[in-house]
Amino acid sequence: MKKVVKFGGSSLASAEQFKKVGEIIRADKERKFVVPSAPGKRDADDAKVTDMLYACYGLAEEGKDFKAQLNEIKARYQEIIDGLALELSLEDEFRTIEEKFKEKAGDNYAASRGEYLNGIIMAMYLGYEFVDAAEVILFGEDGEFDSETTNKMLRERLKGVEAAVVPGFYGAYEDGTVKTFSRGGSDITGSILARAVQANVYENWTDVSGFLIADPRIIYRPEGIETITYKELRELAYMGASVLHEDAIFPVRREGIPINIRNTNSPNDNGTWIVESTCQKSKYVITGIAGKKGFCAINIDKDMMNSEIGFGRKVLQAFEENGISFEHVPSGIDTMTVFVHQDEFMHKEQQVVSAIHRLADPDHIDIEGDFALIAVVGRGMKSTRGTAGRIFSALAHANVNVKMIDQGSSELNIIIGVSNADFETAIKAIYDIFVLMQI
Ligand code: ASP
Repeated sequence: MKKVVKFGGSSLASAEQFKKVGEIIRADKERKFVVPSAPGKRDADDAKVTDMLYACYGLAEEGKDFKAQLNEIKARYQEIIDGLALELSLEDEFRTIEEKFKEKAGDNYAASRGEYLNGIIMAMYLGYEFVDAAEVILFGEDGEFDSETTNKMLRERLKGVEAAVVPGFYGAYEDGTVKTFSRGGSDITGSILARAVQANVYENWTDVSGFLIADPRIIYRPEGIETITYKELRELAYMGASVLHEDAIFPVRREGIPINIRNTNSPNDNGTWIVESTCQKSKYVITGIAGKKGFCAINIDKDMMNSEIGFGRKVLQAFEENGISFEHVPSGIDTMTVFVHQDEFMHKEQQVVSAIHRLADPDHIDIEGDFALIAVVGRGMKSTRGTAGRIFSALAHANVNVKMIDQGSSELNIIIGVSNADFETAIKAIYDIFVLMQI
């Protein structure tokens, strides 16, 4: 058995956190491949090292003095090294970083140093081999991650390696120029490594005990999700549930490797298992609820729309021409509604309206703003009668007016549109009926 373990920034923010991580790794001899993030916040008012690096490099790029800011970053690492009583000096590394900043090596290079330096410390602390991600994670000329070449390179490099630390978040182009993933990208590195070493599980250690059924800012102490499928996770993540980087599921998913989200500060919790498929029923009919505010509905009316071939395409073309992506398109006999993000749409609304008139010749267009969308997600819905009925009666009892309903053909989710003002009430009502009352 082999496990790849990735630790997030808050799990590595201080020497104290490093010690917890060391204990977790040493408690299981299968935890042989480690991916660290850069040190995160030690408390709510603290700064993440990645953000400090971006800011410091910003000064360098403007030709300003950045020495004081670089020293602050150095102090963060020194504090960890001292706290762990390691015989390690990062002086040479920081000299190189300073030179590279002066040469304007780019913000990708700058940000990547957070993980790079933490990787060096982690490798020494554990006695594992350090493998620089720039040597094994490749980006193509188009800036896209090259998964197949990376997989081959990583396998080759790790052949015969017993235990290794590979810093998260970055790789390089073929010429060696460093390139980062988007923010939170160490999750992706962990997944890439799990695929390459054909791990049995990818453990992703963070500061929460997995995914929760609902947002804790809305529901007081919501229950956790024990097992969730990749598809369910996509639905919830799209609606704002964020614990794991969206792209982190792809490398492991193709190999059927499960992801286990765990809590560094509460290592005995089982966390959440993310799997391809399972016969395990979730505890409740629904797996999770997530939602977002700030949508806008564009209602388009035209008599005999149902028999006009190509009407939908023409309407959507008006959005495409203006560079606006649509979220949902429920339709009726003579009506069609397009849901979009309000802040994206707002500045272009009149252009879009005139484009719809020009392209599709509708009778009437009406715009309604301040919508929230709520996704109720669950693989259990397929085999349970009355889920929709329960949702809507709960909403009616809570005095919430439902403005839109969209059940995906996978029967994995039901999306409900309500006004922004009813958002929290609606989520509470749905959580209560399925989780607290278990009806
Ligand atoms: N350190 C990077 C960030 O703050 C990447 C990561 O933590 O995954 O986004």
